[in-house]
Amino acid sequence: MMNNQKVTLFWHRRDLRIADNAGLFKALQSSSRVLPLFIFDTTILDQLPRNDARVSFIHQELQRVKRVYETHGSTLIVKHGKPLEVWANLLRSYAIEAVYTNRDYEPYALSRDQSVFELLKTHGIPFKGSKDHVIFEKSEVTKDDGKPYTVFTPYMKKWRLTLPADAFDAYESEHLLNRLFPCAPSDMPTLNDLGFEAVDIDYPAAEIKEPVLEHYAERRDLPAVAGTTRLSIHLRFGTISIRAAARAGAKISEKWLNELIWRDFYQMILHHFPHSVNAAFKPMYDLIPWRTSETDFIKWCEGKTGYPLVDAGMRELNATGFMHNRVRMVTASFLTKHLLLDWRLGERYFAEKLLDFELASNVGGWQWAAGSGCDAAPYFRVFNPAAQQAKFDPNFVYIKRWVPEYGSVSYPAPMVDHAMARKRAIDTYKAALS
Ligand code: FAD
Repeated sequence: MMNNQKVTLFWHRRDLRIADNAGLFKALQSSSRVLPLFIFDTTILDQLPRNDARVSFIHQELQRVKRVYETHGSTLIVKHGKPLEVWANLLRSYAIEAVYTNRDYEPYALSRDQSVFELLKTHGIPFKGSKDHVIFEKSEVTKDDGKPYTVFTPYMKKWRLTLPADAFDAYESEHLLNRLFPCAPSDMPTLNDLGFEAVDIDYPAAEIKEPVLEHYAERRDLPAVAGTTRLSIHLRFGTISIRAAARAGAKISEKWLNELIWRDFYQMILHHFPHSVNAAFKPMYDLIPWRTSETDFIKWCEGKTGYPLVDAGMRELNATGFMHNRVRMVTASFLTKHLLLDWRLGERYFAEKLLDFELASNVGGWQWAAGSGCDAAPYFRVFNPAAQQAKFDPNFVYIKRWVPEYGSVSYPAPMVDHAMARKRAIDTYKAALS
């Protein structure tokens, strides 16, 4: 039934928060009848396992956001379906004046938004995107000749030089909630209605812990200690604002701010080089004759390689949906160099398991490890998992946590000899690239 009162819709996607939300702020500034919306997209959901913890997380966060809107006399409309069909129905239900959202740079999101833009255009409805997910997007930080950077350090320097004084200022959307469209609370599908199960998992707190940042530079590489912020799931789903994070980084830890710049860097790379999602960033690397061995791949997935740091990392991932960054580098290097298996296999496995899975950073991290990415280590530098363990988990604290049988007879022998595997990787890469 058509609701003949005019509304401006604000479409939440990877920004599941009310405070400091750029698109929501702009919607609320432009109209005093803003109705927030979220769509559970079946195109995405249909590919996920029924117990996917990210769907539970999204559901939980939406309930929280919805409650806040309801305390202000409005609601969050939550739909389930294919976005274009949902939008066609919304057009029949509401007199929509404008639609606001925050930009998403992944290839699927771009094509979805283009089709929604075209549909709205046929009805004369503007569809307005804002930058909210990153500090700098698209071509905001480029080389002097306007071309995109493909190496991190000069990008990072230019990022810092380009930074306007107000770059990290908050959009005070939470102070404009009296401009929401007044209406009764709407129904929201349960997880069950969506075809998913609740997952019993403790998600990390959406809190910027200052003591972690104070010691970040010394502790960030030690997987046994809580030396990193665990904010990745929140930055992924926008349950904290990147501007709030960057403010804390600038104040307390430049090293940490650099990691947030890596995040911007990979989003920028995805925007300019979308082919890198499925193919080597450096095309020559697609000539590498990857081995195929399901048995080897399964040993890696299950954390049964006989290399304890690799096994601890994979078991942490399988049990919690998280893996420490240093260990992500070691496990990814092991798959692509020691086992010579295609980086795309590992990238897809991480995509399925990581709570913080983000296409840009995942593909970037994997191509970095495989040597095929932008600013990757040269292919002849092969991580030695035993040396990495000696340096970053010298007392086997992290390893014992995830591989309790380590050191006993039930722990497997190394599945490949390090010296042989290293030589095989270097020889294979060299032959393919020369
Ligand atoms: P912190 O060290 O506290 O860093 C703060 C934030 O900075 C992170 O939450 C993240 O948003 C960002 N960040 C940190 N390191 C990187 C990096 N190298 N690249 C891009 N952003 C970074 N990160 C993801 O968010 N999603 C992924 O799917 C992902 N896949 C990865 C795959 C591989 C093979 C590798 C090597 C790295 C991957 N990373 C990914 C980057 C990094 O490992 C995680 O962001 C980090 O471990 C998350 O933990 P944290 O929040 O405690 O990080």
